[in-house]
Amino acid sequence: MDALTGLLGDEATVVPVADRARYLADWSRDLKGLARTVIRPRSAAEVALVVQECLARGLPIVPQGGHTGLVGGATPSGDGTEVVISLERLNAIREIDAVNFSMIAEAGCILQNIHAAALARDCLFPLQLGAQGSCQIGGNIATNAGGINVIRYGMTRDLVLGLEVVLPDGRIWNGLRKLRKNNTGYDLKQIFLGSEGTLGIVTAACLKLFPKPNQTETALVAVGSPQAAIALLGRARRDLSDLLSAFELLPRRGVELALGVMPGLRDPLRTPSPYYILMETSASGLVDLRSLIEQFLGGAMASDLVSDGTIAANVAQASEFWRIREGMIEAQVQRGRHLRTDVSVPISSIAAFLETADADLRRIGPDVIPIAFGHLGDGNIHFNVIPPATLDESAKTTLLRSCENIIFEIVDQLGGSISAEHGIGRVKRDAFLSRSTALDTTLLRGIKKVFDPTGLMNPGRMV
Ligand SMILES: Cc1cc2nc3c(=O)[nH]c(=O)nc-3n(C[C@H](O)[C@H](O)[C@H](O)COP(=O)(O)OP(=O)(O)OC[C@H]3O[C@@H](n4cnc5c(N)ncnc54)[C@H](O)[C@@H]3O)c2cc1C
Repeated sequence: MDALTGLLGDEATVVPVADRARYLADWSRDLKGLARTVIRPRSAAEVALVVQECLARGLPIVPQGGHTGLVGGATPSGDGTEVVISLERLNAIREIDAVNFSMIAEAGCILQNIHAAALARDCLFPLQLGAQGSCQIGGNIATNAGGINVIRYGMTRDLVLGLEVVLPDGRIWNGLRKLRKNNTGYDLKQIFLGSEGTLGIVTAACLKLFPKPNQTETALVAVGSPQAAIALLGRARRDLSDLLSAFELLPRRGVELALGVMPGLRDPLRTPSPYYILMETSASGLVDLRSLIEQFLGGAMASDLVSDGTIAANVAQASEFWRIREGMIEAQVQRGRHLRTDVSVPISSIAAFLETADADLRRIGPDVIPIAFGHLGDGNIHFNVIPPATLDESAKTTLLRSCENIIFEIVDQLGGSISAEHGIGRVKRDAFLSRSTALDTTLLRGIKKVFDPTGLMNPGRMV
């Protein structure tokens, strides 16, 4: 600590125990650890100095963003040996080039601040997720975050033009290009997207911007079954051209949970329905978006795909619809420890997945509450399970593990992925490696070795 304080000054190290709590426990508070020290550099050069110092002393490093990741990647381990490097003080927006539709932001910029900076220049940065008030763009890049707009704009991987990264030996790799097309050799920046801090520390990124939409239409519609939801998705993709930006599945059970915890929230439609779709379209320019969505929903109702629905009359009503989505997560948090998954299957297999998983979990016990919701338009479902409140912690652990195994087995059978968004971290490492072939593992470990031969960069995560 003396050495690091000497290099970076007193303010860079977090000493008081009370101030350290948020660096040691993740957003959910399910995961807690200890750190040798928490250090907060202010520039890429300072990050490089800290990395070199840790390397010289053989100290393992944990890069940390907003600490909203849900798989323990940024939470230090329990043995107190790891140095947490928080990126929170690298929070400058270095440049916005509205002609090039690009922004260069430092890794510690909070995602919501990036949205605001883009909007101020009539641009849009489309990555949107529930944690956007706390997560950082560096964390989004390290996890290749998804969110609600993937159906239209892609994952974070599709939104990054260039990166600046401090490598595990302390050298700074400058790949901060602003180009949309560049086919000169391997696309090195892509190796860091989704690498979860195991190959280096992202210090800045050049992000792709889009024209700011000047029209948005949000609709909440009732569908009778997952099959109807999938049929509606296919129709929406055809009828709404490329203007569909979100297509989220909400089960009735989840809506009821949300109504129970969000003050002032009302049941959105007159008659309850087993499932709802929350969909959003947006456009800039001369498109008549309102009439497009009205025609689309009219057609869907005439073909009995949708039994009821409403288009938000204004921005306030649209945010009420989104509050239902947020309330489902809040209600689950309030129930305490529960199983969170973020699996994906081919869109054509979603209905089979939901039906099989629901039926198999019901066999475990009548008090288990499965809640399946999420980014239906991307084949990505959060199939979560709330255990009975009466169980003690150890019984909950056993039960939730069995539920996870059941869900993952169905995902395997359908050719899906056990993580569509949150990544592997420490929590899913064993499940990930047990599904990797020998060749996958050889390639993964080979890549890790090229970048991080000493294995000190985020050890025990992913590989
Ligand atoms: C309410 C809620 C909703 C969410 N919704 C979504 C969603 O819709 N889609 C989605 O994809 N995720 C979602 N998440 C998960 C989470 O927000 C994302 O994974 C997010 O990208 C993590 O960013 P962070 O800054 O909090 O990273 P952290 O949690 O701090 O770190 C995550 C991983 O990235 C590494 N890391 C962090 N910063 C850097 C850096 N600068 N350089 C190198 N490695 C780094 C860490 O070591 C760790 O392995 C949600 C989480 C919550 C709590």
